[in-house]
Amino acid sequence: MTDQAPPPYRPVTEDWRTALAVVAHPDDMEYGAAAAVARWTSQGKKVVYVMATSGEAGIDSMDPETCRRVREEEQIASAELVGVDVVEFLGHPDGVVEYGLPLRKDIARTIRRHRPDIVITTNFRETYGGTWPNQADHIAVGRATLDAVRDAGNRWVFRDLLDEGHEPWNGVRQLWAAASPDSGHAVDTTDHFERGVASLEAHRAYLDGLGGDMADARGTLETFGAMAGERLGTRYASPFEVILLG
Ligand SMILES: [Zn+2]
Repeated sequence: MTDQAPPPYRPVTEDWRTALAVVAHPDDMEYGAAAAVARWTSQGKKVVYVMATSGEAGIDSMDPETCRRVREEEQIASAELVGVDVVEFLGHPDGVVEYGLPLRKDIARTIRRHRPDIVITTNFRETYGGTWPNQADHIAVGRATLDAVRDAGNRWVFRDLLDEGHEPWNGVRQLWAAASPDSGHAVDTTDHFERGVASLEAHRAYLDGLGGDMADARGTLETFGAMAGERLGTRYASPFEVILLG
């Protein structure tokens, strides 16, 4: 019996100028996608980060109000290391983010403000593949982001956004979900791998609180990066599920 090799990844398009990454928590981009962001910002592209929560429930030994400040600071420093100088926090509650109209509207507002070509989120499928379950906030934020891309383009959805001065934006061409088990595309991160490691290591308080295998920034990123790289034909890569919208 022979194992069927998984199909090769195709490279994501890079003929765009601006991307908006909308994720649930500080550190979500850093578990695999930050090296790709470093590549894109070094090409002169602009990438903005939006966090639905401030990750305030992420450190067991730290009370949420202290944790919120620490994790926002760590995220801002982490983003800077990969060339991202705008990081916004939407203030939804960490761990109990609800998929719903308030979340969709907040994300639609940020899409109308930033007017990106590409929107990036993280895996919003039930699992990461096999039986490794996804986390509830990732599923809620990813699904809401997909829907908010459409909301952002429809003048008659969330009409009070017009009153706030946010005109519709129909320019999002593709939505990319990082680390999805349905990924068919990837980007070569070999030359930017070290910056990806540094950006995850910038979440020092979080990693110290986490412990275990996932707290080993370099080891974790090497494992996942090399797995994806094998399917792209590069040393390291970041995989994405690409959803075409334009
Ligand atoms: Zn997360």
